[in-house]
Amino acid sequence: MTITADHTTFPSTALAELRRTFDGPLLEPGVDEYDLARNIWNGSGDRRPALIARCTGVEDVRAAVRFARAHDVLTSVRGGGHSIPGHSVCEGGLMIDLSLMKGVRVDAGRAVARAQPGVKWGEFDRETARADLATPGGYVSSTGIAGLTLGGGIGWLSRLHGLTCDNLLAADVVNADGEFVRASAEENAELFWGLRGGGGNFGIVTSFEYRLHPLSAVLGGALVYDGRRTEEILAQFAEFALAAPDELTMLGLLITGPRVNSYPEHMRGMPVVFIGVCYAGDPVTGAALLDGFRAQTRPDLDFVREMSYAKLQRMLDNDATWGVPWYEKATYAQEITPAAIATFSEHWTHRVSERDQMYMQQMGGQISRVPEDATPFGNRGTQFVYMIMSGWKRGQDPAPHVQWARSGWAAMQPYGSGQGVYVNFDSEDDPTRVRATYGPKYERLGRLKGQYDPTNLFRLNQNIEPIPN
Ligand code: FAD
Repeated sequence: MTITADHTTFPSTALAELRRTFDGPLLEPGVDEYDLARNIWNGSGDRRPALIARCTGVEDVRAAVRFARAHDVLTSVRGGGHSIPGHSVCEGGLMIDLSLMKGVRVDAGRAVARAQPGVKWGEFDRETARADLATPGGYVSSTGIAGLTLGGGIGWLSRLHGLTCDNLLAADVVNADGEFVRASAEENAELFWGLRGGGGNFGIVTSFEYRLHPLSAVLGGALVYDGRRTEEILAQFAEFALAAPDELTMLGLLITGPRVNSYPEHMRGMPVVFIGVCYAGDPVTGAALLDGFRAQTRPDLDFVREMSYAKLQRMLDNDATWGVPWYEKATYAQEITPAAIATFSEHWTHRVSERDQMYMQQMGGQISRVPEDATPFGNRGTQFVYMIMSGWKRGQDPAPHVQWARSGWAAMQPYGSGQGVYVNFDSEDDPTRVRATYGPKYERLGRLKGQYDPTNLFRLNQNIEPIPN
């Protein structure tokens, strides 16, 4: 990996030069807005860049990249700020902040939307919903479209319409030389391939163009159960989810019952099983299907109803509080066996904080029908992802929380498929896992990286090492 100078300040002449070509705010420590701008979702990423360049358009991005390249600066790139390892903010160096770039343009006739990299899924969905259209995003509305798309993008609509990156039609990119490049199936096709799962390795995307699908309402929400039935409910979930049609996506989630009026007192602050549901097809068929699951499992709370897709996208937002320190580990699995459920449930009994969560996330459907070589996103045959997420208060010792997530991940390894992990779901920078995730495609990605970013300027990510061309 290239070693980059760890700037904590920049020569004033260099800054003056940048100011001549950069329109947006350039924030140094001590000025108003600096602390707000360096703030990201994961409170563990409490880092202080020497300079935050808040881009207002493509020319600002080009100017910032040229500055970084000319001065050999450690550089982070921030879209929505949801990086789980906190890659979007650096200590010293330059943070290229795209969060002011918020444009979304929906072409309802062509069922296509273009969006800038500061847009979050809630903002994107709001615009496409006006035309009863949508593209697969994630499970949380405050996640940025940029990082999610570039890593792959798994969400409520992925089993029906594929990953987010499978719905990417084109992208505008500023490469490590500060040059503007368009990537699509027709133009710079190899770069377009790399952008669909290869993360932020190849340059800064300044515009994403997506295919949209007709969608207005979904049958969505959650069925909630007393945590004393965890094993039984997860077993029913695993069986039902595996047989589900593409229109149905379910999420098995172990959380602490929220202290809100819609939960009975005996479930507040207590472990609960939360089965998130999205049926994006004919509501009568969906209702009949879910009635079958209800009859088998007898939920304590039933929050499933017809709602807008945009509303469903916000359902889990409160479980992902901004600014809290978080740590996450994930692993893929082909099936959920009784032994896996027993281990998963047992680990849950040792959680250390009310913020801790464990997920069984469903994959399959259209995700697995796209050929493995069509994009860098790997392991498309995977049926489930196990995720273990710990959260704690700022100032608390992270060690027991990180340890809980790590030991749960280790305990689940015998039941996982062991082929790397979705690059967007892991708190650790582990080059071995990145290689395992991409498998035989890693070398192709390395050559592409060598072409577009030979000095590894964009290295604060799940990094692919450049192979010289
Ligand atoms: P940022 O922190 O802004 O960016 C993350 C990284 O992406 C940056 O470090 C950079 O390397 C790269 N990047 C960002 N913008 C650009 C750009 N314009 N050009 C080039 N590189 C760029 N993932 C899913 O697939 N499905 C989910 O349902 C889902 N849910 C999530 C929920 C939460 C609460 C969180 C925190 C994460 C979730 N993720 C999910 C993971 C998410 O996809 C990644 O964390 C993703 O990187 C976030 O993108 P962002 O733009 O918000 O993040």
